[in-house]
Amino acid sequence: MATLHGQPVLILKEGTQRTVGRDAQRLNIMAARVIAEAVRSTLGPRGMDKMLVDGLGDIVITNDGVTILKEIDVEHPAAKMIIEIAKTQDNEVGDGTTTAVVLAGELLKRAEELLDQEIHPAIISTGYRLASEKAMEILEEIAIPISKDDDEMLKKIAATAMTGKGAEVALDKLADIVVRAVKTVTEEVNGKLRFDPDYVKLERRQGGGIEDTELVEGIVLDKEVVHPAMPKRVKNAKILLVDSALEVKETETDAKIRITDPEMLQKFIEQEEKMIKDMVNKIVEAGANVVFCQKGIDDLAQYYLAKAGVLAVRRVKKSDIEKLAKATGAKVLTDLRDISSSDLGEAALVEERKVGEDKMVFVTGCKNPKAVTILIRGGTEHVVEEIARGIEDAVRVVGVALEDGKVVAGAGAPEIEISLKLKQWAPTLGGREQLAAEAFAAALEIIPKTLAENAGIDPIDVLVELKAAHERGEKYTGVDVETGKVVDMKERGVLEPLRVKSQAIESATEVAVMILRIDDVIAAKGLEKTKETGFEGMGEPEF
Ligand code: ADP
Ligand code: MG
Repeated sequence: MATLHGQPVLILKEGTQRTVGRDAQRLNIMAARVIAEAVRSTLGPRGMDKMLVDGLGDIVITNDGVTILKEIDVEHPAAKMIIEIAKTQDNEVGDGTTTAVVLAGELLKRAEELLDQEIHPAIISTGYRLASEKAMEILEEIAIPISKDDDEMLKKIAATAMTGKGAEVALDKLADIVVRAVKTVTEEVNGKLRFDPDYVKLERRQGGGIEDTELVEGIVLDKEVVHPAMPKRVKNAKILLVDSALEVKETETDAKIRITDPEMLQKFIEQEEKMIKDMVNKIVEAGANVVFCQKGIDDLAQYYLAKAGVLAVRRVKKSDIEKLAKATGAKVLTDLRDISSSDLGEAALVEERKVGEDKMVFVTGCKNPKAVTILIRGGTEHVVEEIARGIEDAVRVVGVALEDGKVVAGAGAPEIEISLKLKQWAPTLGGREQLAAEAFAAALEIIPKTLAENAGIDPIDVLVELKAAHERGEKYTGVDVETGKVVDMKERGVLEPLRVKSQAIESATEVAVMILRIDDVIAAKGLEKTKETGFEGMGEPEF
C-alpha cells in the first residue's frame, strides 16, 4: 500500500519490510504469545523443565522462567518487549517474572479476540488500563498487613518464593536464614524500613548438603590468605582496605634509568626494597593487622607483611571491598602515604576456613553488622545454582514485604478475587471498554489455571471451585497443587508481597497495551543481522 491515512508514504529504502494494520498486530501478538507460552509451563511449585524451540531459533533450556527469558535470543521486537517486562519485574521486586509474562500473553490473546470483533485497539487499551487501575485498588483491599516482627509470616513468604526451586529438603532452615539475613540488614530511615539487597551477599560453594547452608553475620570472601607464613586467624582485627596494588609505583615520567655498574643495580634494588618496606611499616604503624587489597600484592610486600604478622588477601572484588567498607567502617584507601589508624575498620575475627574443597576468608563480628553473607551449599554445582536462585528471590520478597508491610495470599487467590471483582465493576464502564475490562478480568484466570495444569490437575474443575469459593467471600482461597483441592492460602501460609502482584499486573498491562497500539512495523533491511531491533524511530502510531 502506498498511502497511509490518505497521505503518500515516504519512499522506503529497498529491502525494507513493512507490515501494517491487522497484519502487524497479529504478528506482534503472535510473537509475544510464543514467549509467554514458552515459560508458562514453569509457573508455580510444580513448574516443569521444558524444552522450548520457537520459530525464531533454538533456545537454551532451564526450568526457571526468568533464566530462560534472559537466555533467549529473539529477533522479533514484540517478543523482546515481553522479555523486557520480565527483566523489569526482576529488577523491581525480584519475583513474579513468570506471572507477569504469562499474564501479558493472555491479555494479548484476549485482545486478539476483541480485535476480531472489530473493536479498535485504542478502546481495548483504554479498557485494559482502567481495569488495571481498578485491580490495584482491589489488591489493596485484600492485602494482609504484616508486622516487621512477625517472623513466622516472613518465613512463609520466603518459603513461598523458594517452593519449586529445589529447596524443599531444607525449606524451613533456608526460610529462617533468609528472614534473619534480611532483618539484620534492613534499616529504618525516616520512620520507614529500607532494605538494600546489596548487603545480603550470596556466596556459592559446592560440597556438603543444602542443609549445610549457613548465615554468616559478616562477609565471606571466596579468597585465601595470600602468603603461607601469614596468620590464618586474627582476633580484634584492624582492617585496611586498599584499591591499588601494593607494589613499587611505576615512575610517572618516561625517564629511563641507565644502570652502568653492578653496584648501581644493587642500590636500585635496595631502593625498591626500602620503598616496599616503608610502605609495610606505615601499614603496621597505623595499627593494621589485616589487609584486603583489590589489586595485587608484590611478593616482597607479602614477605614483609607476613613477617609483621599481618593477614593479607589480594584481588578482592570491588563489590566485596565496598561491602567490607560498609561492614567494618574502614575507608578505602588508594594512597598509603598518609594512612592513619582512623582509616582502619574493625571486626572481632578475620579467619581463613576450609569450606568444601577450598578455603574462604570469613570476616565476622563486624563493627556494623548490617552486612551478611548466606553461604549456600549443595552437592553439585547445579543444585547450588538452583538453590541460589530460590534464595535470591526469597531475599528480595522478604525485603519487599518488610518495606511495604503488606502481603497477599498466593496460589491464584488474588487473581481470582480481582477477576471476580472486576467482572462486577466492568458494567459501570459501559460501551465497548466494558468488553475490554471483562476480557482483562477473564485473562487473570490464566494464573490459577496454569498452576493447576502444571500440577496435572484439571483446570476447569479448579476454576469452577475457586470462583464459587470467592463468590462466597473466601477471598484467600487458592489452588493447592499437592491435593488439587482449593484451600485458604492465608492459613496454608502461601504468601507473597503485595508489590510482587501489583507490579506483575501493571507491567503485563503496560506491555500488552504497548504492543496493541502498534499498527505499523517498518523493519530495515538486514533486521536479522542487527542486534538492536527495538522500535526506536518508528514514532507513535496514530489511530
Ligand atoms: P514467578 O516467576 O511468577 O514467581 P513461580 O514459578 O515462582 O513464578 O510461581 C509463582 C506462583 O506460584 C505464584 O502464583 C505463587 O502464589 C504460586 N505458589 C507458590 N507456592 C505455592 C504453593 N505452595 N501452592 C500453590 N501455589 C504456590
Ligand atoms: Mg517466584
